[in-house]
Amino acid sequence: MISVQLAIVNAMIYDGRHPSPIPKGVLLIDHGKINYVGLQQSAPSFQAAEILDVKDAYIIPGLIDLHVHCFDHHGSLESFLRNGVTTIRDLASDPFHGLECKHQELSGKTLSPRVYFSGPILTCPGGYPTQLWNSQISLLVKGRFQAQEKVKWLDSLGIDVIKIGLENELGPCLSETEIKAITTMAHDLGKKVTAHLTNEKDFELCLKGSVDELAHIPARPVSDDLWKEAILKGIRIVPTIHAHWGWACEWKKKEAHPFGHHCYLGFESGYKQALGNLERFLNLGGKIIYGTDAGNPFLPFGVSVEEWKDLRQAGLSLLECLSISTIQAAEALGCQEQVGSLEVGKFADLGIYTDNPLDNPENFKTIILTLKNGKKIAPQPVQYPKAFNLDFWINQWNNGKNIQSENTQ
Ligand SMILES: [Zn+2]
Repeated sequence: MISVQLAIVNAMIYDGRHPSPIPKGVLLIDHGKINYVGLQQSAPSFQAAEILDVKDAYIIPGLIDLHVHCFDHHGSLESFLRNGVTTIRDLASDPFHGLECKHQELSGKTLSPRVYFSGPILTCPGGYPTQLWNSQISLLVKGRFQAQEKVKWLDSLGIDVIKIGLENELGPCLSETEIKAITTMAHDLGKKVTAHLTNEKDFELCLKGSVDELAHIPARPVSDDLWKEAILKGIRIVPTIHAHWGWACEWKKKEAHPFGHHCYLGFESGYKQALGNLERFLNLGGKIIYGTDAGNPFLPFGVSVEEWKDLRQAGLSLLECLSISTIQAAEALGCQEQVGSLEVGKFADLGIYTDNPLDNPENFKTIILTLKNGKKIAPQPVQYPKAFNLDFWINQWNNGKNIQSENTQ
């Protein structure tokens, strides 16, 4: 007879490793970790401080979102957790803000998923994201020695991954030499490098510079040669497909303005191209991992049902979607021994749903409970980011246009 704190019984359990759920399954949880997961008839005899009969509800491992921007949105971390996302990785922040959020989470005093973060985006002077976002989320580097020093500094602070920003369409970019210096130093320190990018030229730089991961799938046409080279090099892509759709919807509000119209069309075509690119990459044998870019317009601080639908449209089965959102995402973070599947010895991070999310992603909305470290957390309506100040960018565009017309006169 074993004693545990919590026993969950009568559950349909997807453990994240096997394709079929365990019917009438039992999960035994003690001190935040899984003691047993499996069929009722094979379970050891147990005594539990609490027995939770979930009446044939579905249990899946807690989801992992590898691309979010949430530290500046009050309540976003709690929203993720209450909606089944038990681990997040933020990919652009003031590093000290990231450290504070991580510290708060580790203290156990706040309702938060497990926190991983990159800190600021390494870029060159005038490079992405300096043109679009505040300076606290970027860190400028000039030359390979400075690039290496900044990687060392970020590593010493305790960041989990290095992020670089590449946008050849918007302005200057890090050079191949600088990117190589960043990746070499990061790899020496045991860190991976992920890259923001949009087009083929950015993608080429990633390949030449030995980047490990793309934080988006390119949203412009890409040659098969590049996809194949990326696959050969083992590059993983976090597609963030639906972020393009979110921005298209946001800019549609300003369609009457020429710049708003231009942005709306750009994001709308970017969405279609990104979806087509993803399908091609997958067909060629490419590997992806789940991330939403939550924090951008219309993307929830929770499970993105629409992202799952896009992934399915690109050719993934819902079981594959689950795998890239759980165990494969955990492998990308290096925490696969602790989370990512429901196995003995791992933390009890999971979501319980009355209807099966692997029948239809809409069923994520039927969540009845999240568990993190074996602790029960009730659901609440998912939060979305506030509307963006599009007039800021429209004014920038207006100013740029005036300067240009002055120059040409
Ligand atoms: Zn992002």
